[in-house]
Amino acid sequence: MKIAVIGAGIGGLAAARALVAGGHEVTVFEASERAGGVVGSTRVDGFLREHAASSFLGGPPRGALALCHELGVAVDKASPNAKTRWIYLDGKLRALPSSPLSLATTDLMTWRGKLALLREPFRARAAAGEDESVHAFAARRLGPEAARAFVAPFVTGVFAADSHDISLAAGFPKFAALEAEGGLVRGMIKQMVRGVRDKTPKTPRGLYAPAGGVGRLAEAMASSLGSRVRTEARVSSIVSAAAGGVSVDGERFDGAVIAIPAALAADLVGDLPELAAKLRVFKRAPTAIVYLGMPEAAVTKARNGFGFLVGAGEDVRVLGCVFETTVWPDRAPSGQALLRCIFGGSRDPDAASLAEQELIALARHDLERVLGATGEPTHASVVRWPRGIAQYAVGHKDLVRAAVAAARKHRIALAGADYRGAGINDLIADGDVVAAEVRTWG
Ligand SMILES: Cc1cc2nc3c(=O)[nH]c(=O)nc-3n(C[C@H](O)[C@H](O)[C@H](O)COP(=O)(O)OP(=O)(O)OC[C@H]3O[C@@H](n4cnc5c(N)ncnc54)[C@H](O)[C@@H]3O)c2cc1C
Repeated sequence: MKIAVIGAGIGGLAAARALVAGGHEVTVFEASERAGGVVGSTRVDGFLREHAASSFLGGPPRGALALCHELGVAVDKASPNAKTRWIYLDGKLRALPSSPLSLATTDLMTWRGKLALLREPFRARAAAGEDESVHAFAARRLGPEAARAFVAPFVTGVFAADSHDISLAAGFPKFAALEAEGGLVRGMIKQMVRGVRDKTPKTPRGLYAPAGGVGRLAEAMASSLGSRVRTEARVSSIVSAAAGGVSVDGERFDGAVIAIPAALAADLVGDLPELAAKLRVFKRAPTAIVYLGMPEAAVTKARNGFGFLVGAGEDVRVLGCVFETTVWPDRAPSGQALLRCIFGGSRDPDAASLAEQELIALARHDLERVLGATGEPTHASVVRWPRGIAQYAVGHKDLVRAAVAAARKHRIALAGADYRGAGINDLIADGDVVAAEVRTWG
């Protein structure tokens, strides 16, 4: 079939690659002058800045790491110095426990909170098929202290959102799967037993990024598609074609994959009102990343660990900060540290639209408060995404099912971060889901 893919972000590129592998004739329409969407990597003043995604887990067999190997993109593994993760809670940085001993001694919870954790294996399972918020799940299984101290900052780290607002089933399917197996501890034991019995080769663990940044992977994906990717080719409408299939700005295709943010997709299919209405329900939260470069000596606390996440209601506005040069030592000139501070999200959307100098001042203030970092930065810049991070509300999976069904009627498939996973790994694996959807068109 002759298929149009609208949008050359990671979602569109992955879908296009899967369709080409399935023997289809594919044209990718990309509005901007480069492929990759929000993903991109630029070096400024010797500091490597990621525009959005900065790393991915090595685990999934059909994920980003496997694709890097397939496309010959060199990868780095996160430094062992990045092991500790910090939580800023009740005005102080506290290490996230990583072992039973550190859990017993952590100052993130009281003894009452720790005892509540021990009761996790004995708690009742949620009713099958019912979605709930991540907060409701965590409070029910682990107790309110763990929900506040560990789970809420973790949700902020992934969705820049409040844990009350994110669906467990759609946002954290691995936890939902453990729940379906009887709870976190019971589910993990069952998975471990299956893992020991499973003789297929184990996938690499840990955190990875292409050498030179995640943008290198987007570039390699686009190159692998060659002249099928048309840049500076903004699509303004998709309608049903009289001869069957779809018409993309007047050009006929057997079908289309829409891989742009859902709110923009709704505008493209304005002539298909049922589909447009079903796309408008998906929300994105605005995000701003402030990069600060500083002499290493000015931020000694950032030499240990991946970074910190901030609990709700603290005295700073930064949602979290990655100690970039502790994780990836070659991302700054020698003797310099690079810090990536995230603002905005659905927790604090107004922060994402502050003026650049205000955001930089805020980042400096917050890093002084949390890390004791003082002095003039050697680099300061902002990367802003008004449609930043996809937000999966409770009931999200039902909304996706309804939108996919409405799109199918017009030989349209939906791809990208709004639907079945927003991380780079999810989007790459999702290419196969989109190709399977296209096969249903016959
Ligand atoms: C700040 C931030 C940090 C993140 N960190 C991580 C991380 O560490 N790890 C991780 O795995 N993920 C991370 N993510 C998530 C991940 O980067 C994104 O979810 C993903 O890259 C989005 O890809 P996409 O293809 O859905 O959409 P996009 O990247 O938004 O791509 C859509 C493309 O469509 C094009 N387009 C729009 N309208 C049209 C039109 N009318 N015609 C033609 N083209 C059009 C756009 O120009 C764009 O290129 C992060 C995201 C953000 C914002």
